[in-house]
Amino acid sequence: MKYITLFLIIALGTTQVSAQADIEQLKKHITYLASDDLEGRGTACEGERKAAEYLVKWFKKYKLSPKGDGGSFLQKFEFREPDPTNPHGFDTLSPKTVSHNVVAYLDNSAEHSVIIGAHYDHLGKGERAGSLSAEAKGKIHNGADDNASGTAGLLELARYYATNKAKEPYNFLFIAFSAEEMGLLGSKAFCERPGIDFKKVHLMINMDMIGRLDTANPRITVSGTGTSPQLQSLLIALQPKSFAVRPDSSGMGPSDHTSFYLKDIPVLHFFTGIHSDYHKPGDDAEKINYQGEKEVLDYMIIVTDSLLQLPKLAFTPTRNSTTGNAPRFKVTLGVIPDYAYQGEGIKLDGVTEGKPAQKAGIRKDDIILEIGNFPTPNIMDYMKALSQFKKGDQVKVKLKRSEELMEISIEF
Ligand SMILES: [Zn+2]
Repeated sequence: MKYITLFLIIALGTTQVSAQADIEQLKKHITYLASDDLEGRGTACEGERKAAEYLVKWFKKYKLSPKGDGGSFLQKFEFREPDPTNPHGFDTLSPKTVSHNVVAYLDNSAEHSVIIGAHYDHLGKGERAGSLSAEAKGKIHNGADDNASGTAGLLELARYYATNKAKEPYNFLFIAFSAEEMGLLGSKAFCERPGIDFKKVHLMINMDMIGRLDTANPRITVSGTGTSPQLQSLLIALQPKSFAVRPDSSGMGPSDHTSFYLKDIPVLHFFTGIHSDYHKPGDDAEKINYQGEKEVLDYMIIVTDSLLQLPKLAFTPTRNSTTGNAPRFKVTLGVIPDYAYQGEGIKLDGVTEGKPAQKAGIRKDDIILEIGNFPTPNIMDYMKALSQFKKGDQVKVKLKRSEELMEISIEF
């Protein structure tokens, strides 16, 4: 078969106007996954187990094949809990915790496959680290946007590709990851034991927080656009009227696509942006922009359909890959970076009460330019800078507030 050119594919892509993702389905999935009954889907907790059961029920309904352990949809993995006395060590005395990814397969008898994933765990009742709420313990963190929205998106894409009339020229592997909030543990475990030949994977598509498309300034960030030569131009060419698409070339970021990128697989990660309920108990189902999420998913379908017309994508490493694994931290500043910010420096979407940044007077909308003489033009350099310090260190932070340059002393 001869492959048609990118130009033609784009022309075909834009002619597809039929509605694909279903708002009622999205509402049903997110309302259930983010209900108090599931207690915030804490990794390896009862509520997360119920969410896994729910996913299996729908995967079965769509007649997908199980791709977990021993003919089931569940892939088991084990990990050590973080050491409560040292946030960067592991508790080697307690027994290992067991958790599960949920994996389903749509066999189109094709040579190559597309992997579509989203994490389904969240912060539970704030028993482990990760909450940005001042008094997190005991409060249910429903995680409607993070990441019931992506999990519902995964189910909708599974429904679309399993029930549409077309037989696509690629197979699909649909996977819901556990333990993302504990450091991408589920996706790392899957990548060590994928049950599918990674040399035959076209690309991996990740969704993490796609439920809060801003109505005043509708835009999404798509990361990983530099991980294969054709991705960026295709994403921009297919950009819909209803929102702007901001490409971010890096294959490394704070979600599960990173695990696949590190295995030399092209990745795309879809994200509607950070908000004030991020990692707090207020991330609830009624705050989701369902119409917006549907539009994001319809765009993802058009992009995916276009990518299905191309031969297996070549992998290209992106600018952040030279550092290998992400740096390790002994300290935290207690800020929420705006990952969609395109300018120089780290723009803050929020600061956590009681943490060093807030104590020193750093505020939302400040732009951090330097920490202790380490410039922070982007997230990766910011992380590298942070990894240089230990608790008790006193450093100067250079930042921009409105148009004013300032220097603030902080203590880690
Ligand atoms: Zn997430």
